[in-house]
Amino acid sequence: MSSCETVYLLLGSNLGDRMGYLERAVEEISRSAGVTITGVSSVYLSPALEMAGPAPDFLNQAVSLACAPPPAALLHELEAIERRLGRRDKGNYRPRTIDIDILLYGSRVIRTARLVVPHPRLVTRAFALAPLLELAPHIVDPVTRRPLAEYLNGAAGHEVRLYQRRVAHAV
Ligand code: ADP
Ligand code: MG
Repeated sequence: MSSCETVYLLLGSNLGDRMGYLERAVEEISRSAGVTITGVSSVYLSPALEMAGPAPDFLNQAVSLACAPPPAALLHELEAIERRLGRRDKGNYRPRTIDIDILLYGSRVIRTARLVVPHPRLVTRAFALAPLLELAPHIVDPVTRRPLAEYLNGAAGHEVRLYQRRVAHAV
């Protein structure tokens, strides 16, 4: 069963062939059952924050979906994709081939042990807000009802830079 709400994901990579991992993640997401990709942002570069020690710079990219499995099933599917792309060391802030987070799932507010949506650190991370706002400039925080664009100036990591401009989406 899939639900046709707009879902936003954030992809991140700071290990190995970072662009290759982002591309393979988009490809794998597009092939997931019940998922329709509607947009893929530019790729942004930012210094690693919040990691266990010095770490390579991150590439981040947002992806929008028009339809997706229910939230828990979607998370499960995204974690399977992470594993197929060589992700190890979940939950310990180490460099990763690919990290796939659910930023927003329609306007739902979800707080379970496994899943918190909107993503709890979305509004404090410029590397998440910048690609998301490229896809959805007027999107509103479902909790505070404020436009997410209002959070960008106060968010950590102003050094986020455009790394590769979006190309026409052909998935
Ligand atoms: P992070 O993305 O914070 O660096 P991980 O990718 O290692 O950390 O994920 C740690 C846990 O975060 C996952 O096992 C997952 O259950 C949980 N989690 C909570 N909310 C979300 C969300 N919105 N998107 C993805 N994972 C989430
Ligand atoms: Mg994650």
